[in-house]
Amino acid sequence: MAARNVIVIGSGPAGLTSALYSARANLKPLVIEGIEAGGQLMLTTLVENWPGYRDGIMGPDLMMEMRAQAERFGAEIIQNQVTSVDLCVQPFVVKTSDAEYTATSVIVATGASARLLGLPSERTLMGHGVSTCATCDGYFFRGHDIAVVGGGDSAMEEATYLTRFASKVTVVHRRDTLRASKIMQDKARANPKIEWCLNAEVEEIKDTGKGEVTGMVVRDRSTGATREVPVSGVFVAIGHTPNTLLFKGQLELDANGYIVTHDGAKTSVRGVFACGDVQDHKYRQAVTAAGSGCMAAIDAEHFLDDIPEHLQTWK
Ligand code: NAP
Repeated sequence: MAARNVIVIGSGPAGLTSALYSARANLKPLVIEGIEAGGQLMLTTLVENWPGYRDGIMGPDLMMEMRAQAERFGAEIIQNQVTSVDLCVQPFVVKTSDAEYTATSVIVATGASARLLGLPSERTLMGHGVSTCATCDGYFFRGHDIAVVGGGDSAMEEATYLTRFASKVTVVHRRDTLRASKIMQDKARANPKIEWCLNAEVEEIKDTGKGEVTGMVVRDRSTGATREVPVSGVFVAIGHTPNTLLFKGQLELDANGYIVTHDGAKTSVRGVFACGDVQDHKYRQAVTAAGSGCMAAIDAEHFLDDIPEHLQTWK
């Protein structure tokens, strides 16, 4: 089978915007959705900072619209996960569990995934009271006392959201000062259902024996003293890790594992472009991800335009 012009790996705002733009450039992109189809916005409720929606739009609805819009212009979207890539050969090789594709250019939009504390009890109780997604699981904790771990905007957002359901939300943060923006902090601090456990670390989540969350052991970082706080849910909101394992050793990554881009969306390999959270540890917004997706598509188009004419199958 002839090599595809563009394969987009990932289907969040970055991936789908790059698909939309490359479809409209008649490049007939193939999008391989990935395990978290639609990306992080699928795990959110109301998105109030997407331009054009004065009253906000639900995250999953926004992603459904983006998907349909890309398909309308000819993007082919398949529900599968990429298992390996070979970016050392041209055309590039992209494999899923049951198929192998080749492509002249690749747009990487694999995003980032929730970071975990690394406690054995956290792993055992994941999905049994431990969660990384307040909007997915908050409803299960109606009338319960729960905890949110983290001091960034995500933690503030999740804690505030969870007060809709929980009787009390304790925010556990490892430092005295929060990392979150002032506006998010102020909102959380003004919420009477939120309690603060600062300069503290979660040492263990109980009770693995029972297979459900009954509390957490919290250690005060100044005194070293530990105490058990009874909660029925622990939401871990300590940031994200870029999904770049597939590209390790093939694309230049920074010290934190994010793909290094230059001159727009170009990566260290000619013909491979990256957009969205997989290459952005600073802005990490849906709208910036979408913007970088547009850049990746335009860069891919220019790259393909420079290829000898007889190899340009899309013209
Ligand atoms: P973040 O800003 O990186 O914050 C992560 C938080 O978790 C920090 O407070 C950090 O502590 C803590 N943390 C990290 N590793 C930890 C560990 N192993 N144990 C305990 N605590 C740990 O991540 P984020 O809150 O997910 O935000 C990411 C980006 O998205 C930010 O740019 C943020 O502004 C943006 N965002 C915006 C909105 C919004 O505007 N609506 C909502 C969510 C996120 P330290 O502070 O000590 O490092």
